[in-house]
Amino acid sequence: MRYIGRFAPTPSGPLHLGSLVAALGSWLDARAAGGQWLLRIEDIDPPRCPPGASDEILRQLEAFGLTWDGDVRYQRTRGAAYQVALDSLVERGLAYACGCSRREWQSHGVYPGWCRQGSRHPERPQAWRLRTDLGPDPVTWHDRVFGPQRFDPKTQGDVVIRRKDGLWAYQLAVVVDDADQQVSDIVRGFDLLDNTPWQRQLQSMLGYAEPRYLHLPLVMGEDGQKLSKQNLAAPIPTRPEDARPLLHQALHLLDQQPPLALRDASIDTQLEHAVHHWTPAAIADNPRRDPVPPAF
Ligand code: GLU
Repeated sequence: MRYIGRFAPTPSGPLHLGSLVAALGSWLDARAAGGQWLLRIEDIDPPRCPPGASDEILRQLEAFGLTWDGDVRYQRTRGAAYQVALDSLVERGLAYACGCSRREWQSHGVYPGWCRQGSRHPERPQAWRLRTDLGPDPVTWHDRVFGPQRFDPKTQGDVVIRRKDGLWAYQLAVVVDDADQQVSDIVRGFDLLDNTPWQRQLQSMLGYAEPRYLHLPLVMGEDGQKLSKQNLAAPIPTRPEDARPLLHQALHLLDQQPPLALRDASIDTQLEHAVHHWTPAAIADNPRRDPVPPAF
């Protein structure tokens, strides 16, 4: 199968070390396979995306030499395609309108499917939910780092695929675009592993091909939480000369054992070595990593 990979950041802020590890792992896997690497900006939630954040992400990727193929895709332009997918699910009874508020069902843990036979609150704004009881059960796949996966859709719940404020939800948008862009290999952070069952169900219900999956370790901050925009993880630089030691550190976090002698080498030299020696099998199946001190 022709290799097509992608990096799909939400532009809610600049990239940090954790997102660099995801971008780098996905880029290396694509380049080592002689494949393409696409960049898709997942800006479906404009209130969460400050102006200028996507341009800064592009500059950051360029500083680290993580070049992409073709034009950048912006999800805010893709509403019509998401609507076609939603209509197809609704027509076949695989998605339904729901006006329940989280407060009403949260004691159940996951949404109990109350509106499956018709919306209980048609007078309220309606979200659209997926009938996870009508998709593959159990949901199984093989993760290239974390091995065989098996999920019970009942413990996942009927996920929202279009929000009641009219915005498209991540689960639907990501699946429609991965299929439309013929992505063969999804390489991304471990925090998304438990979103994969909904995505697998959607792929099956929409008749899409199943990509391969490789989830990458998450980088932890000093507070013991994964680095994120919410805990204000430091942005990675946009100048290549500042990027060199961080690239070395990111390769360590991917268990690639980059030679110390290359720590201050140019970005091109480090990447060339890393593509040549890319060994996904070396990535330990431990989902959490403490950042290696950049000075080592
Ligand atoms: N946009 C998602 C995020 O930034 C990632 C989507 C994906 O890689 O599937 O968390």
